Amino acid sequence: MPIKVNPLNTEPKSENFLIASFQDFISLIYPDTCCCCETALAKAEMHICLSCEIALPIIIDQTIVGNKFMGKIPYHTSVALYQYAKLNSVQNLVDEIKYKNNQELALYLGQKMGKKLIDKSFDNYDGIVPVPLHQSKQKKRGYNQSELLAKGMSETCGLPIFTQLLTRTKATETQTLKQRFARWTNVETVFSANEKVQGMKLILLDDVLTTGATLVACAESLLKKGSTEISFMALASAV
Ligand SMILES: [Zn+2]
Repeated sequence: MPIKVNPLNTEPKSENFLIASFQDFISLIYPDTCCCCETALAKAEMHICLSCEIALPIIIDQTIVGNKFMGKIPYHTSVALYQYAKLNSVQNLVDEIKYKNNQELALYLGQKMGKKLIDKSFDNYDGIVPVPLHQSKQKKRGYNQSELLAKGMSETCGLPIFTQLLTRTKATETQTLKQRFARWTNVETVFSANEKVQGMKLILLDDVLTTGATLVACAESLLKKGSTEISFMALASAV
């Protein structure tokens, strides 16, 4: 994990120099490695080495994402940054942010989402709603990776994050272990939206899209409580 640098840069210059030298020294002994290929990162690289970065499968044609929602629920836009497939490098990134406590990577990827996915279509949006984890799961993991993605995104696009508008009322089993049909029946009643969503235009954000059932269930709750427009956004989408 990279060492945190004081973001406000408030230390006196000599101390900054000492911190920088110390970090150089530490990275000589424990170099940060690429989250995809585990080779040592160069000084200018963050989390992902340049060759892995270039090879990441960015989704150009977003209709593969839209097809997951078409006819299921009214929505405005649906976009995802990367194509997700078992054993591809995007799976490594997702594993890092979900199971390996790499919270800084989640923030970093969220920033990328903000830069690449937010355009004029979201000009009059009120904010971002990350898909909530059940309280017990969040306590166990210590964080919600979708919330961290939203935080990174918010840093680059300026939209606020709302974490209190939607709650997960039932702890479900890991979605990826379930059959396609079971997934649809499983998520139907697990989300509950707050009255405050009335009149709001919101981006629902998830880490990985498989069937889209989770986002549809979230959107249903928000629309039922009076949200006027929903868009879907994800770090990665299975094709
Ligand atoms: Zn790499």
